[in-house]
Amino acid sequence: MHLIGEIYINGRFETPIGTDFADLHNPATGAVIGKVRLGNEADADRAIAAAKAAFPAFAATTLQQRLDMLHALHDAVIPCKDDLLAAVVEEYGGPVGIMRNWMDMMAHNFLAMAEALKTYEFIRAIKATRVEMTPVGVVGVITPWNSNAGFITNKLATAVAAGCTTVIKPSEMSALQTDILIRALHKAGLPDGVLNVVNGRGDVVGEHISLHRDIAKISFTGSTRVGKRIWRNGAETMKRVTLELGGKSPTVILDDADLNEVMPLAITAGFMNSGQACIAGTRILVPRHLMKQAEDAAIAVVKAMVVDMPDNPQSQIGPMVSQAQYDRVQGYIHKGIAEGARLLIGGPGHPEGLGGYFVRPTLFGDVTNDMTIAREEIFGPVLCLIAYDGEEDAISIANDTDYGLQAYVFSGDDERAYRVARQINAGRVLVNGLFHEPQAPFGGFKQSGLGREFGVFGLETHLEPKAIHARKFPV
Ligand code: NAD
Repeated sequence: MHLIGEIYINGRFETPIGTDFADLHNPATGAVIGKVRLGNEADADRAIAAAKAAFPAFAATTLQQRLDMLHALHDAVIPCKDDLLAAVVEEYGGPVGIMRNWMDMMAHNFLAMAEALKTYEFIRAIKATRVEMTPVGVVGVITPWNSNAGFITNKLATAVAAGCTTVIKPSEMSALQTDILIRALHKAGLPDGVLNVVNGRGDVVGEHISLHRDIAKISFTGSTRVGKRIWRNGAETMKRVTLELGGKSPTVILDDADLNEVMPLAITAGFMNSGQACIAGTRILVPRHLMKQAEDAAIAVVKAMVVDMPDNPQSQIGPMVSQAQYDRVQGYIHKGIAEGARLLIGGPGHPEGLGGYFVRPTLFGDVTNDMTIAREEIFGPVLCLIAYDGEEDAISIANDTDYGLQAYVFSGDDERAYRVARQINAGRVLVNGLFHEPQAPFGGFKQSGLGREFGVFGLETHLEPKAIHARKFPV
């Protein structure tokens, strides 16, 4: 049994003032594997005070000092990658073969941000005015459970690059991963108070951070529902916010695409992270006259997928993170059936031979874009095949959503695919492949969020431009 009993404040591991505990589960079996002691508002206050006290000195560090820190943070997490991977498998149910790559990306976030920082111009001249980019202040970082360590390293890297100090509230469901990560990051030797981490409930510690006057900015990844609340809470003290929220991403398959070639990619994009991905391509748009072929191709891909315990290196789909998430996904499968969609494969209940929070990878045919399963984020391995009539109709269905985080376009003609990609309202569009470029901006149109992360775009959301007008500047 794991016991996570400490939080991290001002460079030290400490017992929280809060006395509540939350259970940790193994999602593959449902068994309790440990517990975490939760911080409360008083713990958040201590962390915020430490970050506030550390801010002036940290804001004054040189670019070279911050570059050195990013490299030290990277080097510090490398030795914990195996332990972290084991925790992700046990606590989150992430398939080990897939999560191994995620650990590399998690560590790489520090190097990617260092690359962006290296050439960033903090001081610019606009005619006779000098514009200085200054760190915004203490950043409240609030993260979800579906790629806990990766979100923390990216958001921490961005804050450090900008010269901001942090108070991090990770998901209480990811306490084991957070503990391993923070104990590793501690060894990087950041100045005390730059990194503070308070485990706790969203409606207690998260809420307190989002309302606190000494927090200048919130960097949040999570649901659209909570993102809206954080934005409202932050309005009172005019907090800067970066909100990375939900999605209902379209995958547009054009009529000249080779279905057997692109369907494996489309399904991979849809079932990414066992379906628990904000960027999952959950609406697969197919020309009406090719629908039968597309259904057959999709069923064949899903049939061949390995759904198994997360410690099986062959496994491609693991369980949902929690009982609540399992119930939610089951609810959507029932709703799809009730609203008239046709089950192509999968359906309610557990996959054969598996228990815990596993759900059956599910494909629905005969879906129209007004059905609940096509409109709401399910966050599980449930995909909709939607028919369209012509390119314009495809674009219109793709854009007929409250979200706009990511989209995918597949075509035999790269130029045509690019033309379609330009007409889709999403923060990122992947054309004829699955790519990730850590210098490119990432974030959502519409209700998928506000602001951008990664690279210089992410860095700038942590900076305030200050224009200094003077007769003469020191050289
Ligand atoms: P969630 O919104 O329930 O929780 C996210 C975090 O917010 C957790 O740490 C939670 O404790 C905290 N929180 C909850 N209530 C709060 C409150 N009132 N004030 C402050 N903080 C509060 O999301 P989740 O279920 O953990 O994660 C899944 C969601 O995250 C999905 O909707 C998914 O699309 C989204 N997500 C988005 C991205 C992206 O980059 N756009 C990436 C991953 C996940």
